[in-house]
Amino acid sequence: MPTDDETQQRRLTGIGVSPGRASGPVVAMPDPVAEPLAGATLAPEADLDQAAERIATAALSAQTDLEQAAARASGAAREVLETTAMMAADPTLVAAAQQLVRETRLVPARAVWQAAAGVIAQLAALGGYMAERTRDVADVRDRVVAALTGQAPPGVPHSDHPFVLVAADLSPADTATLDPDRVVALVTRDGGTTSHTAILARALGIPAVVGVAGATTVPPGTLVLVDGAAGTVTLDPTAEQVAQAAALAARVRTFDGAGRTSDGHRVPLLANVGRPDGAQAAADAGAEGVGLFRTEFCFLDRTDAPTIPEQVAQYRQVLAAFSGTKVVVRTLDAGADKPLPFLMTAAEPNPALGVRGYRTSWRNPEVLEDQLTAIAQAAQAETADVWVMAPMIATVPETTAFVERCHAHGLATAGVMVEVPSAALSAGQILRHAAFASIGTNDLTQYAMAADRMLGELAPLSTAWQPAVLQLVAATCQGGVQNDRPVGVCGEAAADPALAVVLVGLGVATLSMTARALPDVAAVLGSVTLATCRELAALATGADSAEAAREAVRSRLPVLDELGL
Ligand code: PEP
Ligand code: MG
Repeated sequence: MPTDDETQQRRLTGIGVSPGRASGPVVAMPDPVAEPLAGATLAPEADLDQAAERIATAALSAQTDLEQAAARASGAAREVLETTAMMAADPTLVAAAQQLVRETRLVPARAVWQAAAGVIAQLAALGGYMAERTRDVADVRDRVVAALTGQAPPGVPHSDHPFVLVAADLSPADTATLDPDRVVALVTRDGGTTSHTAILARALGIPAVVGVAGATTVPPGTLVLVDGAAGTVTLDPTAEQVAQAAALAARVRTFDGAGRTSDGHRVPLLANVGRPDGAQAAADAGAEGVGLFRTEFCFLDRTDAPTIPEQVAQYRQVLAAFSGTKVVVRTLDAGADKPLPFLMTAAEPNPALGVRGYRTSWRNPEVLEDQLTAIAQAAQAETADVWVMAPMIATVPETTAFVERCHAHGLATAGVMVEVPSAALSAGQILRHAAFASIGTNDLTQYAMAADRMLGELAPLSTAWQPAVLQLVAATCQGGVQNDRPVGVCGEAAADPALAVVLVGLGVATLSMTARALPDVAAVLGSVTLATCRELAALATGADSAEAAREAVRSRLPVLDELGL
């Protein structure tokens, strides 16, 4: 029974995308730094030297802030901040902006903005490593302009205390500097279950709720309780609610390294790996192998294709962490939300429906050839059991072409990702040729529901709980049974413990997820028999809506409540 205090509480709802409960004061993400007015010039009596000096002072303060932030951070965040601090220390931008002030009387903030545009254009024209630095210049520009105009500096604000970060949405650059020891929960107004924020929150194990209308109107400093399973944000929680959440968070769950149902049906639980330096942590968390190695994460932002030796070095790092076990390497998945400049040429009106994934090899077959050469060399040098799969396969001829290329490189276990409904519906024919299939539920949902996975407004459609998506999973599994080939799932659906049970009931053989989700998925799967998984799968597939499917399944899994999932 809720207490009087609890019934009067204000509660915002959204979509819970990363389970767990945490409370803390709200810290708001600052608005993006606004572009200073074009042509804004100094008053005739203004002292130009003084104005130019203000630019140098602002740049120094941006540099000091970045260095201090880098010193506080660790890992990838530290690297990002150190690189940007170095960029802030480079005198080129300051000198160019000062020259603009002296020659054209532009106000300092506008001069910095314009000078940065020039530096960015020069770097972009140089290509290669230099072109990859344009984003750092833009970041330094924003910080210097913020210092000059009294705006909050961009990026995740610093706080000495743990806090709940509230934002309209978070960009990949914002999330790169997010410190999980300080940020106890994430709440965003936009974003869906497969948005960048959601994937990152799950990887870091931070409770998160996205698509929360009114999130950005909660006053900074307000104490909130975030429930990442229920998708709620409670304002001014009671001391008892806070204590309960803390007790739940303190319970450490581990995974014993063997996924199974309560009656012993084995379901290997594998890890999704992006950057190779995350592979060891996944192995330490007990992952039974890698079900999805997203190779494009090694080369995002590269303007020229990586060389074979560069690739071999990256791939070996992942294979070495999983000696003797299975590692499914996905060939480069470029396009839409994952731009790889060296594979993408013309702008397209509908990038998600364009030349992405496996399709990029039509234009650039040599990139696929080099990658398969590199994967084969890495596999030779290590002992992992290497499987290879292509993203975005839509047809049988694409499957046979890909499998043939893999075999030509000595890669015997060649499979496909099922992310396009056509592949799910032709799984019976596709799996005559491919050794296995791995369902990418993020894209399969996007294409089945015709709902851009990046659009928060479409979040109610963009969920693998949609019965139509579950039917496509079932069709893929039938194709697997017909040909005696394993079908796994490596999309975000596998990391949702209740949905994982449904997937196993539909016939999915392995589940691959962010390593953080392994203990939760293992615990819930271990609480049900295979027969129950099948019953729940039938219930969800036959439901009238995603919401009804989710509710029906969750209400039959009491363990979820016990674990705060
Ligand atoms: C998917 O689409 O479900 C998938 C695993 O691939 P990605 O998220 O990298 O597109
Ligand atoms: Mg995909």
